[in-house]
Amino acid sequence: MLTTVAAGPYTVRGVSIGGVYTSLAIPELSLVFDAGIAPRSAGGIDTILLSHGHADHIGALPALLGIRGLHGKTKPPRVVMPVEIVDDLQAALGALSKLQRWPLDIEAIGMAPGDEIELRGDLRVRAVRTFHPVPSLAYIIVRRVSKLRPEFRGLPGPEIAARRLAGEPMLDHEERLELAYATDTLVSVLDHAPDLLKARVLIMECTFLDTRKTLEAARAGCHVHLDEVIERAEKFENEHVVLMHLSQLYRPDEIAGILDRRVPPALRSRIIPFVPKTGHWPG
Ligand SMILES: [Zn+2]
Ligand SMILES: [Zn+2]
Repeated sequence: MLTTVAAGPYTVRGVSIGGVYTSLAIPELSLVFDAGIAPRSAGGIDTILLSHGHADHIGALPALLGIRGLHGKTKPPRVVMPVEIVDDLQAALGALSKLQRWPLDIEAIGMAPGDEIELRGDLRVRAVRTFHPVPSLAYIIVRRVSKLRPEFRGLPGPEIAARRLAGEPMLDHEERLELAYATDTLVSVLDHAPDLLKARVLIMECTFLDTRKTLEAARAGCHVHLDEVIERAEKFENEHVVLMHLSQLYRPDEIAGILDRRVPPALRSRIIPFVPKTGHWPG
């Protein structure tokens, strides 16, 4: 039922079919993006990031919360989402909690474009504006790395400690854009937030791939068409680009061939289509 791909140091595991359901877990970061389906294995992850409130992205959130109970999770998960949808989602979960006679509690965190919050340790999430008919966000996972400044390297440990105690600024801080997730948006998100193109791994929607859906029709629904990815082929600096939210207009076993024919080789070699190997979409 689940598709698993390796993108550099990260595993992307879940299900994604445009308009049907999308939920992708990144076990190494202990994160789940979206909850359009509730895979059993995602129930053990404590941070869920929701791109927007469409049913194919949040429809299975109550089921995912229920599964957590089976994993012995008693603490509510942290659920990050566009700030505009926090009240409506809490109201919906409140109604479902009454039906369940069981609290479907979450720690809701609303974010606006440009906001950044700490996830854990050196890991942070930055929200990016996306372009869809409802409030929506992309997310960039940023790792803050601190390094001893070159001039202090090689000094004996006690001297480093003494200088640090004396308040000398000894560390350089750098940010690594580890992974980005952008779905359900006009492609212009890439022009407005070029950091997406610099993340080590970019997971992005590419709902439509050829003339079975015109570029105009794709844009009218605020979705990305492969034509628009090809137009920007030279801008992608990512080590890996996972294309997901693919439409069921395409059979899983024809998608790699379409990409081979259409995408310039320098980008194609870095693209991983998120499709099942079975030749059939799950469900
Ligand atoms: Zn969608
Ligand atoms: Zn949507």
